[in-house]
Amino acid sequence: KNADGKYTVTMIEGDGIGVEISAAVKDIYAAAKVPIIWEAVDVTPILKDGKTAIPDVAIDSVKRNLVALKGPLATPIGKGHVSLNLTLRRTFNLFANLRPCRSVVGYKTPYDNVDTVLIRENTEGEYSGIEHVVVDGVVQSIKLITRPACERVIRYAFQHARATGKPKVLVVHKATIMKMSDGLFLSTAKEIAKEYPEIELGAELLDNTCLKIVTDPEPYKPVVMVMPNLYGDILSDMCSGLIGGLGLTPSGNMGDEVSIFEAVHGSAPDIAGKGLANPTALLLSSVMMLRHMKLNDYADKIENAVLTTIASGPENITRDLKGTAGTKHFTEQIIRRL
Ligand code: NAD
Repeated sequence: KNADGKYTVTMIEGDGIGVEISAAVKDIYAAAKVPIIWEAVDVTPILKDGKTAIPDVAIDSVKRNLVALKGPLATPIGKGHVSLNLTLRRTFNLFANLRPCRSVVGYKTPYDNVDTVLIRENTEGEYSGIEHVVVDGVVQSIKLITRPACERVIRYAFQHARATGKPKVLVVHKATIMKMSDGLFLSTAKEIAKEYPEIELGAELLDNTCLKIVTDPEPYKPVVMVMPNLYGDILSDMCSGLIGGLGLTPSGNMGDEVSIFEAVHGSAPDIAGKGLANPTALLLSSVMMLRHMKLNDYADKIENAVLTTIASGPENITRDLKGTAGTKHFTEQIIRRL
């Protein structure tokens, strides 16, 4: 918080539709008079000692402000480039990826009762990036699981359950097959659970969880799910599908100090620059950010305006939601309803 009562937040607009959906967020925040000053930074990667790195200006901004809102970043294709998203997560030690999915009233899908919270380990597991060729035609990819990383993401899940009044933490795993790696994740959860006696610990096999959620998401309402990296990546997209897709789903990358909030979707190169992008996912990510910053009144106001706009009919919503509006019209309609 600055001396004038305002907060400075780092804004990474991102690539492709990132520019358009960030502009929508900025317009809506200005209209809602949210006490935030955006500090825009460019994260176009630079090469440092032969490795892809984020420019220091961007790193310093996030370190100073502790909170950032991020648009999608296109992953450069080719050797020698690592995903910039991964680099950001590693640079700021954003160990937990929080992905809530709640049915959007007014946007009909086969389900109207989805209210899931999924926490994905964000730094290691199957995405450790350790791969090599053993001999021609044989490759090895290492799933790295460490107790410290398990502990912090599982503890985060219990804290989140406590803070949001959910009575149960559910570990989603495949320890039947991945006996040692997922086994460590599961046994760590049993240890950590002792610190939270009022919260029940459950465990479920990933395939079974998929089957049960798509059959009936209702039993997952009072639950915080926590799981290794790859499982969380896939299962969270599945949950997103239940409520209407990636255009609607927010997320937060949480660390001990820094948090970066971002839409789950990518830079949508197929519609970039055409004024068609749906800014809802980034907006709802920013709403998560506002609640994290304890600016709950602004969060409620913006969330209500977005949801009532979506419910107001196809002429006001974007094409990915089977509407006919462009980004600008949708944004104006949200502003009218603030
Ligand atoms: P994508 O999410 O960009 O697009 C998938 C489909 O969904 C496209 O048809 C797109 O038009 C549509 N879509 C996505 N977001 C939308 C929105 N807000 N409004 C309307 N339609 C939307 O996935 P992709 O095409 O596989 O990836 C494109 C690039 O984004 C790649 O370089 C990828 O690496 C990157 N990516 C980045 C992130 C991130 O920054 N967190 C996440 C995923 C993908």
